[in-house]
Amino acid sequence: MQYQNTLEFAQTCDAQDALASYRQQFHFPQHQGRNTYYFTGNSLGLMPKKVREYIETELKSWETYGVEGHFEGPNPWMHYHKLFSEKAAKIVGAKPLEVVVMNTLTTNLHLLMVSFYRPTAERFKIIMEGGAFPSDQYAVESQVKFHGFAPEAAIIELVPRPGEDHLRHEDILQTIKTHGASTALVMLGGVNYYTGQLFNMAEITQAGQAAGAVVGFDLAHAAGNVPLQLHDWNVDFACWCSYKYLNSGPGGPSGIFVHERHAHNPALPRFAGWWGHDESERFKMRKGFQPMPGAAGWQLSNAQVMAMAPHLAALDIFDAVGMPALRAKSEQLTGYLAFLLAALQQKHPHSGLNIITPKQPHERGCQQSILLPKIGRQVFEHLQKNGVIADWREPDVIRVAPVPLYNSFEDVYHLCQLLDEALQMFEN
Ligand SMILES: *Cc1c(COP(=O)(O)O)cnc(C)c1O
Repeated sequence: MQYQNTLEFAQTCDAQDALASYRQQFHFPQHQGRNTYYFTGNSLGLMPKKVREYIETELKSWETYGVEGHFEGPNPWMHYHKLFSEKAAKIVGAKPLEVVVMNTLTTNLHLLMVSFYRPTAERFKIIMEGGAFPSDQYAVESQVKFHGFAPEAAIIELVPRPGEDHLRHEDILQTIKTHGASTALVMLGGVNYYTGQLFNMAEITQAGQAAGAVVGFDLAHAAGNVPLQLHDWNVDFACWCSYKYLNSGPGGPSGIFVHERHAHNPALPRFAGWWGHDESERFKMRKGFQPMPGAAGWQLSNAQVMAMAPHLAALDIFDAVGMPALRAKSEQLTGYLAFLLAALQQKHPHSGLNIITPKQPHERGCQQSILLPKIGRQVFEHLQKNGVIADWREPDVIRVAPVPLYNSFEDVYHLCQLLDEALQMFEN
């Protein structure tokens, strides 16, 4: 696509955008009587208008049936969790058997590490991103300590080369090779939350497993953002949250993936609860845990119906759009933002503006991380004052994510106009 730095061009793109109408399905926070330019779908996705109706359906069941709502009503709660697996599986490229929606992300990271981080005296290391999302750092560190290892020895952090902003794929593979014999687990974000770098999960999985390690991914910034083929890539396990690109509301439920290879192995150690127990036996209330096959066997509790209803509303939208169409628009929209940001960089060579997200579309999702030393905070506040909702990361990064489901080319154009204004005001 030949991009142009004009409002007319942005409007023409919107007019030709097959997904443009989905914007109408979301509530936008308002600023001075009009929609904000909302660029934080990577932090909290916008609310689908249908959410209220989906929650209302379950409130109605509760009101009407009380405990019988487990068996009555449009979505009997006894089976509520089953409404999610197939839809969520499509988003991550999995079989329904391999996916279940439950709990929250960090909880699930721990539950999955209980099963898949099984360190021995010889093989005990975890390879992860340096500067990973703090919750992942704490989860990994506490797991390592729980098994009696020292984090300094057991955690291998991948960091960019000096003077570089993100990781080189060949360096990731080399680190896996170097530590291969002593590595128990390779666990990265599918997309790094800070730089927006999308990792080559297929090759990382292959390299980790060739070294004898288990390979898992935290897909918090990848699910609903980039194409995923977890089953074909042979990933051992993964988990994600639903409130970022998946628009399922604050603290929304997490999804997990456990590869089919592990589906029928009841001997895999795990922390168990009654909802993971063989369904046909669940209410016999007997001693002796027998897991359900597949990811369902990791469930602890019965579904948190009110918290999961918004997720169902959102997944129904994703089901209608499909990830291929979403990714196609995402590449165009993010490409447009990258093009306009590059133009700003040229126009303001002394502003210090630099994009730390990889330039290649196959190495990024929709996020652009804008590094702005010194004047970053002022620029960010100018954007805020003018109705942009973006994300500030200390000390000097503004993260923006044009989300293909509801952001427009015009949104992107206006964002860059405001950035241009701010750079003019504050650069020196
Ligand atoms: C958003 C995010 C989390 C948040 O975890 P919760 O348990 O849902 O609060 C964890 N890890 C990563 C990588 C994230 O991006």
